[in-house]
Amino acid sequence: MNTAIYPGSFDPVTLGHQDIICRAAKMTDHLIIGVLNNSSKRPLFTVEERIDMIREVTKELPNVSVESFGGLLVDFARERNAGIIVRGLRAIADFEYELQLAQTNRTICPEIDTIFLSTSLDYSFLSSSIVKEIASYHGALDQFVAPYVEEKIRKKWGK
Ligand code: ADP
Repeated sequence: MNTAIYPGSFDPVTLGHQDIICRAAKMTDHLIIGVLNNSSKRPLFTVEERIDMIREVTKELPNVSVESFGGLLVDFARERNAGIIVRGLRAIADFEYELQLAQTNRTICPEIDTIFLSTSLDYSFLSSSIVKEIASYHGALDQFVAPYVEEKIRKKWGK
């Protein structure tokens, strides 16, 4: 069985993430979305809230599961018998960091490889940070996140 991990903060999951999830799920038998549990990033949503939102927006995808992880990504991948790490590339700005990460992971763990999916043009500008920025000014979010996620964001801002 061909298992892949799509790791990230997903704070919160956006339509850009969802696009990568749908495409990656078609290429693998099992796609695990690994939600990074890293308090130093000071996320807006708790890990449980982030997992809940991803589960809701991926409920139609039978081969996708969601869980949190801490520590090294390659250790998590090894534990789950995943040979592939999936990452999304938006613009050239992502490239340097993503390449460094992929090469580091391959040095530590040569049997696990990283594949990159390029973003759909519609979402090339989109990030969780931009969504939070717009939300903080109570701007419309329907082009950026699923309705369920929008509702959760509004609740955080008490609106
Ligand atoms: P991280 O904190 O690991 O960067 P993110 O949740 O920001 O976590 O992103 C997880 C992955 O999804 C990364 O590979 C990132 O490049 C990718 N990604 C984020 N937004 C988009 C988007 N709009 N289109 C495609 N890929 C994206």
